[in-house]
Amino acid sequence: MAEANTHYYATRDPLGAAGDFTTAPEISQMFGELIGLWCADLWQRAGRPLVRYAELGPGRGTLAADALRAMRGAGLDPPVELVETSPVLRALQAQRLPAARWYDEVAALPEDRPLLIVANEFFDALPIQQHIGAARRERMVAYANGRFMPDPIGDEEVRESSPASVAIVATLAGRIAAQGGAALIFDYGAEEGGSDTLQAVSRHAFADPWSDPGSRDLTALVDFQALAEAARAEGVRIFGPREQGLWLEAMGIDLRAATLAKTSPERASEVESARDRLVQPAQMGRLFKAMAIVARSWPAPAGFA
Ligand code: SAH
Repeated sequence: MAEANTHYYATRDPLGAAGDFTTAPEISQMFGELIGLWCADLWQRAGRPLVRYAELGPGRGTLAADALRAMRGAGLDPPVELVETSPVLRALQAQRLPAARWYDEVAALPEDRPLLIVANEFFDALPIQQHIGAARRERMVAYANGRFMPDPIGDEEVRESSPASVAIVATLAGRIAAQGGAALIFDYGAEEGGSDTLQAVSRHAFADPWSDPGSRDLTALVDFQALAEAARAEGVRIFGPREQGLWLEAMGIDLRAATLAKTSPERASEVESARDRLVQPAQMGRLFKAMAIVARSWPAPAGFA
């Protein structure tokens, strides 16, 4: 999964109508703006310290650009630190965020200031493991007759985990505990540990995850409880996970949508349908979750109560 996704992201821009899938920041500027306001609000109530904005897997840089515009409106203009492995996407990010700096991994982020970290649809692309039955035998992948194939499972229980995701969250939480700041994570998630949730998406449709490795996006449901547990062990506070729709409503998406519709009446119906896509439970509002990791010395974040 790691090899396949590294190749996949290194060789294309997968986002948008002409690509394979569309993410929340590509649906509407409101998503990134509300995240920027969340950052600025927390920073103000923390006493306006010098901070850095960091993002994991920033895609086209759309979320960061929208968030930074909102932050600057609120008096916060932090340096931008991006964790991204894809050279194709780094080039797109550089067009939007010319002053940013890039890193291959979270551990390389600067250690000097509190960090405001954002990750949208990042953890779902990280590799998973599956374990089968009471003996927890690891499910392996075979290659035969030119095809990859997972071990068959019969009626045994499959338990999924993502040691790569857990390790990254532990690093993030350790940094937040030591440096101050917060992380805001959005992803589509399981309430508890998932069971065989590996899937592939190609051209906006589900595809066979076992064929054409490296040419389609492989994802799995994010186990927020496992991430929360790993973070908590580093001595930070956790807020959520909360449904994305409820978080966006608590952050004032309806007011923002009304303002946008008023200033650009020709876009009113577009704004309304984007709002629905992000918020409605049957669309992205319920499956996607928001979770925050916050330093003990920092205030409680907006959007979770
Ligand atoms: N956050 C963006 C893009 C989501 S797609 C959005 O919401 O539109 C996943 C992103 O994570 C891409 O930018 C991809 O290149 C990056 N990525 C995937 N695996 C990564 C890894 N192991 N390390 C760093 N970035 C990774």
